[in-house]
Amino acid sequence: MSKQIQAIRGMNDCLPTDSGLWQFVESTIRQVVASYGYNEIRTPIVESTDLFKRSIGEVTDIVEKEMYTFSDRNLDSLTLRPEGTASVVRAGNEHGLLYNQQQRLWYLGQMFRHERPQKGRYRQFHQFGVEVFGLAGPDIDAEVILLSARLWKKFGISQHVTLEINSLGSAEARAAYKVKLVSYLNERKELLDEDSLRRLETNPLRVLDSKNPQVQDAVKDAPKLIDCLDEESEKHFKGLCERLDSFGIQYRVNPALVRGLDYYNRTVFEWVTDTLGSQGTVCAGGRYDGLVEQLGGKSTQGVGFAMGLERLILMLQTLELDKNIAPSVDVYITAMEESVELYARQVGEALRDAIPQLKVMNHNGGGNFKKQMKRADNSGATLALVIGETEKETQQVAIKYLREQQPQQLVKSDELAGFMKKIFTY
Ligand code: ATP
Ligand code: MG
Repeated sequence: MSKQIQAIRGMNDCLPTDSGLWQFVESTIRQVVASYGYNEIRTPIVESTDLFKRSIGEVTDIVEKEMYTFSDRNLDSLTLRPEGTASVVRAGNEHGLLYNQQQRLWYLGQMFRHERPQKGRYRQFHQFGVEVFGLAGPDIDAEVILLSARLWKKFGISQHVTLEINSLGSAEARAAYKVKLVSYLNERKELLDEDSLRRLETNPLRVLDSKNPQVQDAVKDAPKLIDCLDEESEKHFKGLCERLDSFGIQYRVNPALVRGLDYYNRTVFEWVTDTLGSQGTVCAGGRYDGLVEQLGGKSTQGVGFAMGLERLILMLQTLELDKNIAPSVDVYITAMEESVELYARQVGEALRDAIPQLKVMNHNGGGNFKKQMKRADNSGATLALVIGETEKETQQVAIKYLREQQPQQLVKSDELAGFMKKIFTY
């Protein structure tokens, strides 16, 4: 036997046992974004490497060590997208969607980062994200946070996530703050690891983002950017807090929250959970007013977030909230003899004509009563239609309830759709 080929490490198959949960999550997301009037945008999975270098920043975890970069046959440097914002801005600039306009967009799809695979951290993963352009005020920052909060409510996990917010101020305020931070860190160089020492030279704010507990401890009492904000950013931040307060969204101001990507300014936020161990951030985002210009467009404000769907799904599974997902079959139609196979199939086709949403599975492959009923049970169906010679002759079907104690019932085939409509209320 030849050797089996395996999936790439950190890249997961979504198996039939899980796809129902994924579809439920995706359809809930689609419904919520639609309820805010947001439009979907789909961009290619592969982009020029330069796009990510210029937007995410050269001195970031993603660009330094996580990208899947390769030369294609023309020797152009291409990269599998590690995140969505850069591509959305690229597409928006390319198609003239941004300057002097307002856009409320969302996307959902695979992202790729070469990280060490572990629970909640994969090399191919999925993000749902929203990106809003052309709106400057804190009202839209509050709106995207409200949108994410509505999703937690829909999934029943509001009490398991907390919102952390911070402001990174303006570019000028950040520059002034950097001077203070660098002088503080220079006095504590012996406590920094190699990565942080390098970042101290290239991008000192990133030191605050370190995951190394020793470094985290060293920066605990560093000067805080939130205390050095410019007047406008301070007003913006206050405006956001007021709006969150008035909608009862609780939050914690976390001055160490700087986010791992270079393009943010003013508002940054994360939704974190303690149900997933160390991979606790399920959703992260903020404002990126400089990014459109940085990528060659005319200056346009932007704000958005990205949500990790694997982490969200892990949460639903950990909290056992995945149990109520509707099974993929409602009605299982048996055919107890070969001579009734056609009749059983006609019954199925007629049901699909009459009630398009009804999930109907026909039995195939023969077998005795016991075997067919076992298949019906395994399908997860609520009802089995038992069809034998007698039912065919009398143009009826026998209804067997698979999930509750109810006597078997005979229904005429031309009254079957009406009967189903009463049981399955879509
Ligand atoms: P982390 O600090 O966990 O590495 P990040 O700051 O790199 O996250 P972002 O780039 O902000 O993450 O991406 C937004 C969200 O996408 C994260 O909050 C997380 O839910 C999800 N995510 C990021 N990287 C991965 C990954 N490798 N596997 C699964 N989900 C991920
Ligand atoms: Mg990361």
